[in-house]
Amino acid sequence: MVIREKSNGDLRICLDPEQLKKAIVRKRYVIPTSDELACKVKDQAIFTVLDLKWGKHMHIADLLSRNCLDDPVQDDPEMVEVVHEVTKYIPLNHNLRLALIRETENDAGLSAVMQYYQNGWPNFKKQVVAEAQQYWQVRNDLFVEDNFVILNDRIVVPPLLRNLLLTKLHSAHLGIEKTKARARQSVYWPGMSKDITILTKKCRTCERHSAVSSTVARLQPHLNQSIKIKHTNRDIS
Ligand SMILES: [Zn+2]
Repeated sequence: MVIREKSNGDLRICLDPEQLKKAIVRKRYVIPTSDELACKVKDQAIFTVLDLKWGKHMHIADLLSRNCLDDPVQDDPEMVEVVHEVTKYIPLNHNLRLALIRETENDAGLSAVMQYYQNGWPNFKKQVVAEAQQYWQVRNDLFVEDNFVILNDRIVVPPLLRNLLLTKLHSAHLGIEKTKARARQSVYWPGMSKDITILTKKCRTCERHSAVSSTVARLQPHLNQSIKIKHTNRDIS
């Protein structure tokens, strides 16, 4: 930068704006036409769209990422229920939760497990009450929380409710392996895998579905107007 004095006595500032121009010129991106976009996506099968929404419109992401505040905030009980359903992969509504607690308490095996958890397990399996011996193998991984018996984040289901849970887990007719995988994310009881296998083998809907899915279908590109997009929400605040 150079400062020169004009003939009238004023000052003239001279500078080379080359670097300044580089800094202020914006990059320009041409928006592709719909034809160009259609060409680009014609053989694609998975699409992702990023969209911006207020956190208040994304209840679950907002609730899961909520910062701890000094003033305790009462969560909306309905939303807590929804989040619980999402995290546990099974619809554990209020009635089912109460039934699980009640039947856990009423069941001789699980009530004994709860006592052993409080007071310590006997040294030998033969000293354990007969109904609780089925849990001997996993006794060190069992704990009690909120009146549930838990095994590695899975609720141990009392015998009287196992058929009900089986039906719920199987409601999507996912076949044996996927139903087992779904079950292992949320519940446990001794012999659960075997029970799922027996139920699924008897299910006509699963049978029909497996016959259809065994026919290998070629992937078809989505047409532009029929693109299906599955939304996921992320709270980035
Ligand atoms: Zn089925």
